[in-house]
Amino acid sequence: MKKYTHAWLAMMAMKRIEKSAIPEDKKSDAKALVKWFKDYRDFVISGSWYPDSVFKDMSSSHIVKYEPDKTKESSYFRRMPETLGLYQMGLTSDKLGDAFKITKGNLCDRVESFAESLIDSFKILDSEASGEPIVPSCNHIAMRFFILSHYIADCHMPLHCDGRSFANSNAVHGFIEEQWDDMVRESYQIDEDNNRFFYDPEGYPLKSETVHPVVEAVEKELVNREFVWPWGPDCKNTWDYMSGISQYSYLMASRLVPDDRKPKDITPASYKKTDAYKEHFDEYTTIILNDAVESIAKVWLHAWCRYRDWWRGCELAGLKAEARAMVSEIAKAEKIIAEHPAMITGLEAKAAEALAKVEVKEAALKAARDAGRSTKTKENELASAENALAKVRLKVEESKEALQYALDSINDLKALSAAAALKVARKAKEYGISLDDQDDPDAV
Ligand SMILES: [Zn+2]
Repeated sequence: MKKYTHAWLAMMAMKRIEKSAIPEDKKSDAKALVKWFKDYRDFVISGSWYPDSVFKDMSSSHIVKYEPDKTKESSYFRRMPETLGLYQMGLTSDKLGDAFKITKGNLCDRVESFAESLIDSFKILDSEASGEPIVPSCNHIAMRFFILSHYIADCHMPLHCDGRSFANSNAVHGFIEEQWDDMVRESYQIDEDNNRFFYDPEGYPLKSETVHPVVEAVEKELVNREFVWPWGPDCKNTWDYMSGISQYSYLMASRLVPDDRKPKDITPASYKKTDAYKEHFDEYTTIILNDAVESIAKVWLHAWCRYRDWWRGCELAGLKAEARAMVSEIAKAEKIIAEHPAMITGLEAKAAEALAKVEVKEAALKAARDAGRSTKTKENELASAENALAKVRLKVEESKEALQYALDSINDLKALSAAAALKVARKAKEYGISLDDQDDPDAV
């Protein structure tokens, strides 16, 4: 696919996340993603074109090429969400189930690893203090969302999944993609100087006076199509999903460019004479581009929601730590209330003993003075006894103060602890996270 097609598909995916009926439990995350995106949409053209303009990994990561495999009886095609047009077309393909082999390309791995790295980037962003040199900027992360959209979109271009090699260095491939790019360029107003779309009041590409019917159809479908959250019956993750897409994209290739003649004989001129072009080109294009929008929206939102789940987990862990700290404060106060009265009685007895010692030493000093003997030793003994008395009296005071503080604050601590536990329970409920007994601060 070409530059403006890629950028437009990314914008349409954003629009789908905002405008379609997102499942209830993902709605607030979807809203947050759209809000986050709005600040960075100017990068969409440069970002979604980066793989071609800079990475130049076209012969590996933009493709996953399938060819018939004559050494096997059959191959399994994944079951996918029913809403996918490519899947519906594939189910009626006479090549469904035919043995295939993958001869080239790692597109699915690329998409999987890119989506994972987006989640990692957000985690780093949240974990490091702002201003730290290793913190990725939001501009950078947004750019990576758009780069990711490129690889996802490419998987829907059937010729990216088809091992046939056409005449004139894949001229048919280029011809089809040019048709699509022209369609986008004629349908929207593009700010060529700034390498971005002009925007409508909602922040999406501003339509031209005449809009191509395929573009109209895609704009309509992205709102109306049901947003199916699960990856699909045979898909557990991004990789499985992209692999399924590539299988049905491969089946679509035989419809888009029929394989009833040798690939080397197919040129743009001969292709234009086929029924596939004359009768079905817009229909197939619509199916391909609708699914591309859907898949970009799906992979993006799944990655974003995984990050948000992690973020909620961190927030809940922080609240749990606060609740646990309150519980331990209560335990400390209760221990003081239980132990200090007896401790104070014991200390007071020690203080009385220490006072008696002081009195004895005072008397001894006085006797020495009266007798005109040296008083140095007696003075030292008295000072030492007074010192011991002061120490034990201080301990009595401290224990009394601690007891009073514990008695005064225990009710407040209990109220704060109950509030902290309630906060944890409420957040857990809001986030749909279950609190097991070990983690429940009430159970500590
Ligand atoms: Zn590409």
